[in-house]
Amino acid sequence: MKAIVVGSGAGGATAALELSKNGFDVTILEAGGAFKPFTRFLTWAEPLRRTGLLGSEKTISKLFSPINIIRSEKELALVRGMTTGGSTVISCGNIVRTQRGLEELGLDLNPEFRELEEKIIVRTFPHERWRPVTRKMFYASEELGFKPQKTPKAVDSLKCKSCGLCEMGCASGARWDSRIFLNGALDNGAVLKIKTPVKKIIIENGKAVGVIIESEPGKFIEIRADIIVLAAGGIGTAQILKNSKLPVKDKLWADIVLTLGGISKGAEQLKEPPMVWYSEHKDYILSPYLDIFSHWFHKPWRKVSTNDRVGLMVKLADSERGTVNVDGSVEKEISAHDHKRINKALSQAKKILELAGVSEPYIKGLYNGGHLGGTAPLDGENLDTLKPYGIPDNLWIADLSLVPKSQGMPTILLTAALALRISRKIIQLS
Ligand SMILES: Cc1cc2nc3c(=O)[nH]c(=O)nc-3n(C[C@H](O)[C@H](O)[C@H](O)COP(=O)(O)OP(=O)(O)OC[C@H]3O[C@@H](n4cnc5c(N)ncnc54)[C@H](O)[C@@H]3O)c2cc1C
Repeated sequence: MKAIVVGSGAGGATAALELSKNGFDVTILEAGGAFKPFTRFLTWAEPLRRTGLLGSEKTISKLFSPINIIRSEKELALVRGMTTGGSTVISCGNIVRTQRGLEELGLDLNPEFRELEEKIIVRTFPHERWRPVTRKMFYASEELGFKPQKTPKAVDSLKCKSCGLCEMGCASGARWDSRIFLNGALDNGAVLKIKTPVKKIIIENGKAVGVIIESEPGKFIEIRADIIVLAAGGIGTAQILKNSKLPVKDKLWADIVLTLGGISKGAEQLKEPPMVWYSEHKDYILSPYLDIFSHWFHKPWRKVSTNDRVGLMVKLADSERGTVNVDGSVEKEISAHDHKRINKALSQAKKILELAGVSEPYIKGLYNGGHLGGTAPLDGENLDTLKPYGIPDNLWIADLSLVPKSQGMPTILLTAALALRISRKIIQLS
């Protein structure tokens, strides 16, 4: 049976591996090019950032095309990976169980979580390699009763060079990303086509029979298959569905991140992987994080050097309210409810910084979000089929778009677990 998988991120690579392992003739269509890390960015960005010559966050997409950043409103930047491995190649490598919204519907992904954790090899980053300031913040958080815990990570500490630039790609190969699954699929005989954006689904007699791709700018061709699996992420999948006149919900969520920056001379927080611990609160987590995007592009952060900047991140399960347009632009605001909860989280973050001896001024970074989901959500009615209402026969969705609720937690494991469940459903029905 011929299957097309659209996208090679957490969802796409997992689906491609599982389907190819089970006899499907898989073609993976990926909009981006082959990924290569770009950690040298730090060396030459540093002198430019102080003078403001680095410009806005748009500079990064221009210089490093795998990172795609768009503003959904004046204050909020949405970040995704458009390359082989999708957003996993620019991730911090946190691998955490979360299934808000699905659990309540009665979908339990724990078996898939267990299986994937073993494959990915999940472990915490050695405490003795945390920066002293990060340890102090951990103890401060404990003292304040926030119950911090070491973050499960897909990072091999023996290979990790502690460059702190996971979001620019891992140059030492220490961090897992979904290209490992993708390569597994290729070993099973799958074919990968890069720089091949899918525009729409071909539907005949109510059934999906293929896709239309843009093979070069302005040139469109058809590729036919028995099964089509959409895993282009919360924005990409919604865009393809809309182009195909299939239903999409205006419920995009992004797990909004805001980092509170303080100062500690010589703290060198960048010399460790981001987010080595986190504390879980209702609707958000707090975690140590030198937000490189704010460091490079956020004017209020400009005066402080990399060595002295210290950050503590708030990651919020935001309001599920956002629209993806046919052209891929997004309308999403930070709601009043989001602001209220972020402010509460910031007051706790401030207490941690103070207790850990991190100096003022405490300055907010850029509002951004990189967990893009919710645009084709599952609900109680379609748990058996694992397909949102209105999706035709032979077409499946296997990415974060399916998740109805924001998580405020890392989402790779959740996406991969869903994709695994859906791939097995496809295999069972074929
Ligand atoms: C900076 C950053 C750091 C993160 N860190 C973590 C972390 O540490 N831990 C964690 O759990 N989560 C993290 N995440 C979130 C996580 O990476 C995503 O939630 C997850 O990868 C989502 O999987 P997905 O398959 O839905 O989408 P993606 O992984 O984004 O994959 C979508 C793929 O589809 C492709 N695509 C898009 N449109 C088309 C099209 N029209 N045709 C063909 N291909 C298309 C894209 O190029 C991409 O390869 C991070 C995200 C970002 C942005």
